[in-house]
Amino acid sequence: MTRAVTPKIPEPPLGDTSPEALAAEILSALKYRLGKDATVATDYDWLTASIKVVRDRIVDEWISSTKEAYDQSAKRVYYLSLEFLIGRLMRDAFSNLGLMDAMRQALASLGVEFDVIARLEPDAALGNGGLGRLAACFMESMATVDIPAHGYGIRYANGMFRQEIHDGWQVELPETWLEHGNPWEFERRERAFEVGFGGSVESITAPDGRLERHVWKPTDRVLAVAYDTPVVGWRGARVNTLRLWSGMPLDPILLDRFNAGDHIGALAESNKADALSRVLYPADSHKEGQELRLRQEYFFSTASLQDILQRHISKYGDLISLPDKAAIHLNDTHPAVAVPELMRLLMDVHGMDFDTSWDITRRTFAYTNHTLLPEALESWPVPLFERLLPRHMQIVYAINAEVLLEARATGRFNGEQISRISLIQENGERRVRMGNLAFAGSHSVNGVSALHTELMKETVFADLHSLYPDRINNKTNGITPRRWLIQCNPGLTGLAREAIGDRFLDDIEAIRELDGFAGDAAFRDKFAAVKRANKVRLSNLVAERLGIKVDPSALFDIQIKRIHEYKRQLLNIIEAVALYDQIRSHPEREWMPRVKFFGGKAAPSYHNAKLIIKLANDVARVINSDPSVRGLLKVVFVPNYNVSVAEILMPAADLSEQISTAGMEASGTGNMKFALNGALTIGTLDGANVEIKEHVGDDNIFIFGLTTEEVAQRRNSSYQPAAVIDGSPELKQAVAAISSGVFSPDDPARYRELMDGLYQHDWFMVAADFDSYAAAQRQVDTVWRDSPDWYARAIRNVARVGWFSSDRTIRQYAKEIWNVPA
Ligand SMILES: *Cc1c(COP(=O)(O)O)cnc(C)c1O
Repeated sequence: MTRAVTPKIPEPPLGDTSPEALAAEILSALKYRLGKDATVATDYDWLTASIKVVRDRIVDEWISSTKEAYDQSAKRVYYLSLEFLIGRLMRDAFSNLGLMDAMRQALASLGVEFDVIARLEPDAALGNGGLGRLAACFMESMATVDIPAHGYGIRYANGMFRQEIHDGWQVELPETWLEHGNPWEFERRERAFEVGFGGSVESITAPDGRLERHVWKPTDRVLAVAYDTPVVGWRGARVNTLRLWSGMPLDPILLDRFNAGDHIGALAESNKADALSRVLYPADSHKEGQELRLRQEYFFSTASLQDILQRHISKYGDLISLPDKAAIHLNDTHPAVAVPELMRLLMDVHGMDFDTSWDITRRTFAYTNHTLLPEALESWPVPLFERLLPRHMQIVYAINAEVLLEARATGRFNGEQISRISLIQENGERRVRMGNLAFAGSHSVNGVSALHTELMKETVFADLHSLYPDRINNKTNGITPRRWLIQCNPGLTGLAREAIGDRFLDDIEAIRELDGFAGDAAFRDKFAAVKRANKVRLSNLVAERLGIKVDPSALFDIQIKRIHEYKRQLLNIIEAVALYDQIRSHPEREWMPRVKFFGGKAAPSYHNAKLIIKLANDVARVINSDPSVRGLLKVVFVPNYNVSVAEILMPAADLSEQISTAGMEASGTGNMKFALNGALTIGTLDGANVEIKEHVGDDNIFIFGLTTEEVAQRRNSSYQPAAVIDGSPELKQAVAAISSGVFSPDDPARYRELMDGLYQHDWFMVAADFDSYAAAQRQVDTVWRDSPDWYARAIRNVARVGWFSSDRTIRQYAKEIWNVPA
C-alpha cells in the first residue's frame, strides 16, 4: 500500500514493520505474555498474541496523541453513549495502521492463517443497532480527522443477545464476548469513581441563616471502574480512547459487612454493582422503563463527568473554562441525566451559583435526537426519579422553573404550549421528559437527516424550537468508509484503486471519479465479477450454516436491520408471497431469479416483531421447497445479524431494502453501507434515503410509496385499509394465504391477528404502499434484466455516495457544534 498522504503527526512510531520482525514479536508475545510456545498454541492464543503485538504499537501512538492534546491545551470532545456497536477490532486496527499485508505474511510464516483467527475474535456487540453503530463509526472518524476525543459508555459483560433460530422462532442467548478475555482493553483500577443512589438531601445553612449549599447523602454506593480501548484512525493519524465503565462494589464497606457476618448483604451489594454493567437493554426504538436502566444511565453519566472534571481541573485549575476546553455530546437522551448531574457537581461540590452553573452547562452540552416515535421518547416517573436521584429531581425542577419563566416572559405561549415546553409531563402520571431536559441543557440539538430535522421542528420539539429557534440543526449521519468499504470489500477497493488511484482511500468523496467508468463495458464486467465473488462468498456461508442452496447469479435482495413494524419487513414478506403466487400462476412469463435475504433481531418483549421473524422463516420453508417455483425465488433468514454478518452481506447485495413508513426512520445508515458497496436502493422517501436519492440521481434508485405528508393526511382522514386490501387482488390473495395458515399448517391461526391488524388499522401503511412497492419491484426486475444498465447504475451509486462518510459528518459536528478544529 502506498503511503501518499502523511497525516499531521510525522511518522507513526511503528518501528520495524517487516513480516519477519512482526513474526518474531508474535512468538515473543506468545511466550512471555501467554506463557505458550508455538507447538501448543491454540488459534485463540495466536489471535491474542497478534492483537498484543499490534496493540503495543498503538500504545506508543496513543500516548503521543494524548500528550500532544494535553500540551497544546486542545479542546476535547467527549461522546457519551449508552451504546457502542463496534464489532471486531483486529481488521480495523491492522488496516488503519497499514499492517494488514505484513501481519498476514508474518502469521503465514508461522503456519497461521489470518482469516481463520480473525473469525475467532468476538464481535463486541455493545449496542442494539443504528444508534450504537453510529457511535462506533464516529469514534473511528474522530481519530481519523484528528480530533482529541473520548467515547464514554458501559462495558456490558453481556452485550446484545445472540440470536438463534429454533424452528423458525427467535431464541435469545447470552452473548459472552468476554469469555476469552479482551486483549484490546486496559483496566484502570486507579480511574474509579463513586456513584450514589437514593438517600436524602441536606441543606446546609450559614450562621446568618442563609442557605449555603445542598448535600446529597446517598444510601446506595458503588464504584465505576474504567476500561480503556484504543481507537486508531486511518493511517494511524491519531489514537483516541473509548472508556467503558464497569460496576464494582465499594470494597471497604463490603469487607466490613463480610467480617460482621453479613454474607448475604455483602453478596447483594456485589450483585447490585455487578448488575449495572451486566446487560444492555435489548429494546431499539422502544422505551425501556426499568429502574435498572435509569441506574445505568446515571452510573455512566456521573462517572464520565467526574472523570472529565478531574481532567479539566488538573490542567486548568478551575471549571469556568470548561465550555472552552470540553464539548460533551449526548448521543440521544440516554445520558440526559448528565445535565442535572453537571449542575449538581458545579453547585454542590464546586460551590458555584445556579446561574453560572447553568451557563457553563448549556455551553458544554450538545444533544442528538435519534427518533420521533412516541413510544421511544424517554421519560421517567417522577416518584422513581425522585427516589433514586433526589438531588437531581430538585435541580430538574429548578431548571424547569428557569425555562418556563423564559417562555412566559416572551408572552408568545398559551397554557397548552407551556405544558409542552415543561420538563415535567403533568397530565396523567407525572414524568420527567428526558428529551426536553436534554434540549434545555444543550446549546445545540441536532437531527440525523434533513427530513428528520425538519420533522423535529414540526413535531416533538415544535414549542421548544419556537422558544429557542437557533438551537436545532441537522447533521446527516455517515458511515466510516474504512470498515464499510476498504475492509469489508477488498475486491471493490482493489478495482477502484486500479481505476482511479489511491486518493479515495484518504478522501472518500474522491470516489466520485468512478462515475466516468459507468459507461465503460470492460470496467462494468470487472465490477460485476467483484460483486459475483462477494455473492459466492455469501452463498457458501448460507449453504454451510443453513443448508440452503442459492444461485449467485440471482438478484440478491437484502433487508437487514432491527426487526420493527415501522421498518416494514412485513411489507417485504407479503410481497414475496405475492410474487410466489404470480410465479406459479404465470409460468409462461420470464421471471428474474431472486433471493430475498432477511436478518435482524427483535426485542425479546416485542411480540409482533418476533412473529414477523417466524413468518419470514415459515414463508422461506414453503417457498424454498416448492418445485413449481423452479428456484426462481428463494427466501433466506440469516440468524444473529450483527456487525460481522453485515460485513459479509453488504458487499453481496444487489438490492437494498429501505422501506420504512415515511416519516418514521430518522436516518438509517444501513442504506449508506449498501449503496457504497454497489447495491441499488428500493426505498421510501424517508430518513437519509431522501438525500441518497439527491446524490445518486433519480434514475439510480427505486423510490415508491406515500410521502411523509401523505402518510399524515391518510392517518387524519380515516384511512380504511380494508378497502385498500380488497381493491388490490395481489395483496388480498397474499394476506388471505398468510391469514388462513398456508405457511403455518401446524398452527393455521398463527398469523390471523397479525393480518387482522392490517385490515383494522394498519398503522404502518403496509396496505397503502403495497401496490406501489410491488410495481417498483417489477421495475427492479426490468432493469436487472438489462445487466449492463444495472451495473452502470450500481457503479454510479458507489461513485456518488462518498458524501455519506462519517468523516464528513464529524467535520460538520466539529465546526458547527463543538467548535474544534478538524
Ligand atoms: C448499520 C447497522 C445497523 C443500522 O441499520 P439500519 O438499516 O440503518 O437500521 C444496525 N445493525 C448493524 C449491525 C449495523 O451494522
